[in-house]
Amino acid sequence: MSYRTISDVHAALTAKDVSTVELVQASLERIHETDKDLGAFLRVRDIVLDEAAATDKRIAGGEPLRLLDGVTLAVKDNMAINGEVVTAASKILEHYKAVVTATAVDRLRQQGALVIGKTNLDEFAMGASTENSAFQKTKNPWNTALVPGGSSGGSAVAVASDQTLVSIGSDTGGSIRQPASFTNVVGFKPTYGRISRFGLLSLASSLDQIGPFTHTVDDAARMYMVMAGQDDNDATTSARTVEAITFGAKADVQNMRIGLPKEFFGEGIDPAVAKVVMDAADVYKKLGATIVEVSLPHARDALAAYYIIQPAETSSNLARYDGIRYGLSKREGQGLINIYKQSRDAGFGQEVKRRIMVGTFSLSAGYTDAFYHQAVMVRSLIHEEFDQVFDQVDILLTPTSPTTAFPLGARTADPLTMYLADLLTVPANLANIPAMSLPGGFADNLPVGIQLMAKEWDEASIFRAGQAFQQVTDWHTKQPN
Ligand code: GLN
Repeated sequence: MSYRTISDVHAALTAKDVSTVELVQASLERIHETDKDLGAFLRVRDIVLDEAAATDKRIAGGEPLRLLDGVTLAVKDNMAINGEVVTAASKILEHYKAVVTATAVDRLRQQGALVIGKTNLDEFAMGASTENSAFQKTKNPWNTALVPGGSSGGSAVAVASDQTLVSIGSDTGGSIRQPASFTNVVGFKPTYGRISRFGLLSLASSLDQIGPFTHTVDDAARMYMVMAGQDDNDATTSARTVEAITFGAKADVQNMRIGLPKEFFGEGIDPAVAKVVMDAADVYKKLGATIVEVSLPHARDALAAYYIIQPAETSSNLARYDGIRYGLSKREGQGLINIYKQSRDAGFGQEVKRRIMVGTFSLSAGYTDAFYHQAVMVRSLIHEEFDQVFDQVDILLTPTSPTTAFPLGARTADPLTMYLADLLTVPANLANIPAMSLPGGFADNLPVGIQLMAKEWDEASIFRAGQAFQQVTDWHTKQPN
């Protein structure tokens, strides 16, 4: 029993081919069989069987299906569920129990989604391989010697290996899109402010967004519509109405103008990856879209700006883990300062400490102008360049990641090589715009994601273009053995 889309699940529930409890049992069994090798889950929620039974009771009572009834969901372990442990894959939060439920999770559950468990990530979502977790490494189901990407590696793998139907992650600099690209699933980051960050453990607050992993663009749209929209608990959410995303029999890209920004090809990009994207451009051309080369002259500076802004915000956000209010507390020495020092030293991993140091440095007196303020100016410039490009084209098409999945351990010794994985994803976060990675083809038998970006609030164009691509290609149906 393996369903690949929400509409398949709903057809089966309606036909009474399957019950919600059976769907959940199948998911739990699959995790039991595969997760020893994959390491996607940090915790499984046994209580989900009771939740499924409640859904079956509703259905038996004649209630119409809710939008996500029967949908098994995995949640990245940096999103809170009230009363349950949430760790951000950090020792500092190892036994911490949340006191709120993330709005995104809450909205999905209100529509019937069943949270199967919490997935592994790089500690506090810093990383691009899921190797920075304090607890375990997650492996790529296409080849378990390779990383799944990160930081939402566990959530990507849960969907790619059919452990759950869908999952959610967070994307600050590519953490949804890059693992989606490495594992052959759809990953979507909405416009900044579209989905509430309430209950998401903050990494860099001006960049973080929550989004879905699915097999299809249609399912990503369904999840997005449920999660999106204003939330009183997050003042950065927008009051704009969330446009209903619907697809007719054929998603139309006739007359759509698609830009290929030349800075996203060329140096540092694996030619086999670039070829997959050029082939995708041909697919769009055949569908009647116009393909044009465009330029974003400062896009390549995005990585440098990101690695100033992100650590700066992180160093400030992580100041709250003081050994007193949350999680781990070491009290061997004398006095308050010792509690701070010992708890943070024992609780945080290397990469987290590195970012706190870089961030604190670039915010310190005498250096803010040279680093943080400069980076913020570069961010504005990049934002303006995107605005100008979107006067010429409706969407942009690029690779998601410069390479396919790399071997476990290959980049852990040199943080800079790890940061390079984010080259093509961070521009969208700095510009606040929506972006999606979807299965685009293969290079050396490994999945390659293509990235679509649109202007702020124009998620609809991305979904339309993504759906059109999936209607005429079958890359998204390919599965690891
Ligand atoms: N890889 C990037 C980083 O390490 C992005 C992380 C993310 O999007 N959460 O910061």
